[in-house]
Amino acid sequence: MIAPVLPTYNRAPLEFTSGEGAWLTTTDGTRYLDLGAGIAVNALGHANPDLVATITEQAGKLWHVSNLYKIPQQERLAQALVDATFADTVFFTNSGTEATELAVKMVRKYWYEKGQPDRVEIVTFDGSFHGRSSAAIAASGGEKMIKGFGPLLPGFTRLAWGDMAALKAAVTETTAAVMLEPIVGEGGIKVWPDAELKEIRALCDATGALLVLDEVQCGMGRTGTLFYHEQAGITPDIMTVAKGIGGGFPLGAVLATENAASGMVAGTHGSTYGGNPLGCAVGGKVMEIVADPAFLAEVRRKSGLFRQGLEALVAAHPDVFEGVRGEGLMLGLKCKVAPADVVKAGYGEQVLTVPAAENVVRLLPPLNIPDADIAEALARLDRAASAVAKAA
Ligand code: PLP
Repeated sequence: MIAPVLPTYNRAPLEFTSGEGAWLTTTDGTRYLDLGAGIAVNALGHANPDLVATITEQAGKLWHVSNLYKIPQQERLAQALVDATFADTVFFTNSGTEATELAVKMVRKYWYEKGQPDRVEIVTFDGSFHGRSSAAIAASGGEKMIKGFGPLLPGFTRLAWGDMAALKAAVTETTAAVMLEPIVGEGGIKVWPDAELKEIRALCDATGALLVLDEVQCGMGRTGTLFYHEQAGITPDIMTVAKGIGGGFPLGAVLATENAASGMVAGTHGSTYGGNPLGCAVGGKVMEIVADPAFLAEVRRKSGLFRQGLEALVAAHPDVFEGVRGEGLMLGLKCKVAPADVVKAGYGEQVLTVPAAENVVRLLPPLNIPDADIAEALARLDRAASAVAKAA
């Protein structure tokens, strides 16, 4: 008999009732150190006092009004994002998937308005993850995501990740856009080298193709700069954001230049919930905290500390781990064993991690994780790795 909850997840038998900072507590009172943060969502930890105060205050005043009216919380957050980034304009969504949908629509509308309605091809990469909607799975590929869900939305050319020769051949004056995650998340914490991101930007400039960056997972301070592309010294035309921007409240956004967004006039896109006062009040507070250069410097310092410990962990368990990947607090342990075994052994030591493709275990802790919790995380991961080695 099918479960009342559609069984599309293989869930661990853990049920949490409360959280504080980087810790989650189960129904029986056991505390788990959370290095997954809801897959890079709880950027400021669980029950962050500033966010609790912000959401409580806003909840007492106004949760939702339609986008038929002006929403000051939305305008303030949009202005903060515009001030801090390449973007001239922002549309708020409730998730990363919806942001992907709008990014695809925006690209198509751009070329339609430019008098090239057939210029629809978006170049993407195998092993990427842009969400689970029809457009997003067509963009992402991957048998698990697309099998049985055809016919796929046409207009996507997927290339092997990192294949610059194929990219140069594929991107021409008929390409509408190139879309990529500058650090691949679900696909195994793979970082596009800066030089290649610069080449891709140059290729887009030369052909007119728009560059869409998916910073849903790697953005909002996760890598020690507000957005990862800043480190590569490039800017996109369009960027998708979600996860950390709401600190746990469902919120996403599409950021764009005035040029890229030029086709999106009144009536061309909308959302009932996107940009509601409650979400944007929380997002505004997250932005205020995360965009502070002192906060971002702390993310970089904590990353150095964590990474150093992880390198030592890898050296201490050469039969379990192969190396450390990633940037900032978006880190991956490349495993020699099945990552699910490491994640499961972590449950035994009350530490939560997240599996990814390519035999990688992801570590995406809250960006403000205390140093003492980093030390505790390393000790627990060490014990979990010993348990995996013993069982092998
Ligand atoms: N893009 C990236 C890079 C993601 O990691 C995800 C989710 O994991 C998405 C898009 C989809 O976001 P959401 O699950 O909020 O729809």
